[in-house]
Amino acid sequence: MEVTAIYPGTFDPMTLGHIDVALRAGEMFDRLIIAVAESPGKKPYFSLEERMDIANRIMADHDAVTIAPFTGLLVDFAQKKEATVIVRGLRAVSDFDYEVQIAGMNRKLAPGIETVFIAASQDYTFLSSSIVREIESHNGDISEFVHPLVLDAFAEKRNG
Ligand code: ADP
Repeated sequence: MEVTAIYPGTFDPMTLGHIDVALRAGEMFDRLIIAVAESPGKKPYFSLEERMDIANRIMADHDAVTIAPFTGLLVDFAQKKEATVIVRGLRAVSDFDYEVQIAGMNRKLAPGIETVFIAASQDYTFLSSSIVREIESHNGDISEFVHPLVLDAFAEKRNG
């Protein structure tokens, strides 16, 4: 049986930590859908279209990985896509409480969908989209943390 997994997140913007988790998950499952959440509550810096475009271009060479926008309940989206696995990345204990709570709730809502956690690679445990945005906003060098396409996206956004 082929297994489709969903990797949901805001990806504002996608970091090397996200890419690492996505590629490792891509090895584990037949198909991986990176579900880019609209997340209006988080007031994202990049629009949904921009975040999707970045992810699409970064993952262009990976045939088993697709990018899809997502709003609403994750389990509904997963069921619509016939996905049976939700992938989340775990960096530190600080991620744990929230992630386990969401996983438990999703399991209650849709018992057929399993949440799988992928531990962040050591190099990326400290890395988050918000830290990248913060450093970039002060003209700091983020090239170690993101794909070059993300550098372009920041430059484009700044220069209008
Ligand atoms: P959300 O708004 O759902 O938290 P994010 O885009 O911040 O979305 O993160 C999506 C997923 O990727 C989450 O499971 C998060 O824990 C994971 N993640 C974020 N940064 C990293 C990283 N550096 N290494 C591993 N996983 C990460």
